[in-house]
Amino acid sequence: MKRDTVTYNLTSDGACEHCGGYVVAETKRCPQCSKFPIKLHHCPKCKNVSGASEAKCWKCGRVFMPEGDYL
Ligand SMILES: [Zn+2]
Ligand SMILES: [Zn+2]
Repeated sequence: MKRDTVTYNLTSDGACEHCGGYVVAETKRCPQCSKFPIKLHHCPKCKNVSGASEAKCWKCGRVFMPEGDYL
């Protein structure tokens, strides 16, 4: 599987990881805070998506802000 083609989706209803608001499966934007409901870093430099636990972009190496750069 090529990592740069991975898409991230909510697979079931749950709570937004940013604001705790209720989001239904396959929602791309939380209705409450309008962010992607799963915390994922979105690299401002190369636009790749990394997991929230990553300290820096897996592709270009840019260091993420601790509470920023989320999708
Ligand atoms: Zn939210
Ligand atoms: Zn990057």
